Formats: sequence, structure tokens, C-alpha cells
Amino acid sequence: LFAGEVDFLKGVVAMSGLPPDDRIEVCFAGRSNVGKSSLINAVTGRKALARASNTPGRTQEINFFTVGDDRYLVDLPGYGYANAPVNVVEKWQALLKQYLSGRASLRRAFVLIDSRHGIKPVDDEIMTLLDKSAVTFQVVLTKSDKIKPSQHDAVLDQVREKLSKHPAAFPELISTSSEKGDGIATLRAVIAGIT
Ligand code: GDP
Repeated sequence: LFAGEVDFLKGVVAMSGLPPDDRIEVCFAGRSNVGKSSLINAVTGRKALARASNTPGRTQEINFFTVGDDRYLVDLPGYGYANAPVNVVEKWQALLKQYLSGRASLRRAFVLIDSRHGIKPVDDEIMTLLDKSAVTFQVVLTKSDKIKPSQHDAVLDQVREKLSKHPAAFPELISTSSEKGDGIATLRAVIAGIT
């Protein structure tokens, strides 16, 4: 759907660096290691696209990709790093709050949740921030190939229960595996269909 028309634009460390908000924008958020880079690469069809955001030093940047000529795909820094220094976490939270509350063109956040783990407290915190910022968010389950169908039902129940407490949550969940390709076309279509 949009392979070949996605390009890395820039990494941003302060609000002053944001590109003009003249495109439809969606962002991806998730705990470190949730499979965010793999998912962005799978969705865009470009193997190494999100790798830049994973290299040391770039992990705190908000990375902007252009999709065609009318939208941005935004890779937010991973959260919940086990040993992140407090000042780094605080700086990141401040930038994230500013970005989420001040970005008129942001239509939807995709919050990635590992199918094996469900929603953790740190995910709940991000969802609360999205509620407060009035940014609609949709949960994307990752690594669905790692769990059995019975576990899948259990994680869906847990996620739905948690989401019922978040007014900004979009009701439909998307289950994906970047490894097997499951759900990737669905996610792509959702992104392409946002107006
Ligand atoms: P990030 O830190 O959120 O960007 O996570 P990565 O995309 O770097 O993935 C973290 C780890 O999970 C890597 O070892 C990936 O190979 C693995 N991974 C990511 N997506 C999948 C998936 O769909 N299935 C499986 N089995 N492993 C995955």
C-alpha cells in the first residue's frame, strides 16, 4: 500500500524542531522492546527504516517519516527502559507531553502492547496522558506469533478491560506479527484510511 513512498524525514528533540503540521499525522508508542521498530518496518515495507531510531543517542528523538505526500508517520521514543536515568525520563516525558497536547495534525496514536504481557502500569500511564491530551489511541498487539490462541483471548480480555477506563481509547484492537505478517495489511489500511 505505501511501500516505496515512505522516507525518513528527521529526528526531533525539541518542539522547535517539529516539521510544519500540514499533514495527517499518526504516531507509534510502546515500551522498549515491544517490537515497534519491527512493526514500523513491516508496515512501511522497508527493512531498515526504523533502525535509526534504535541506535544509541537517537532513542530519545521523535522520528518523523513522510508517507506519500499527505501524511506523517511518527515514531515516538520507547518508554519503560529498565535503567533509564531519571533526568532522561523527565526530559522525554516533558517533550512527549508537549508533542501530544500541541500537535493539531495528530489524528491517532497507536499504542503497541506485547501480546505476551498485556497492558502494564507504564502503558496505562501513557494512555492516561493520551486521555488528558485528547488524542485518540488504538492498541496494536505485537508478536502474536509468540502466543497460543487461548492466551490471545486472555490478553484481549485484559486489554479491553483496561481500555474501558480510558476515554480516548479506540475500541477496535489490531493484532499483529511483524515476523509472520499477520495484521500488517490491516494496520496499513487503517493508517491509510485516517482522514
Ligand atoms: P522496539 O524496541 O520496540 O523497537 O522492538 P524491536 O522491533 O527492536 O523488537 C524487539 C525484539 O522483538 C527483537 O528481538 C525482534 O526480533 C522481536 N520481535 C519484534 N516483532 C516480533 C514479532 O512479530 N514476532 C516475534 N517472534 N518477534 C518479534
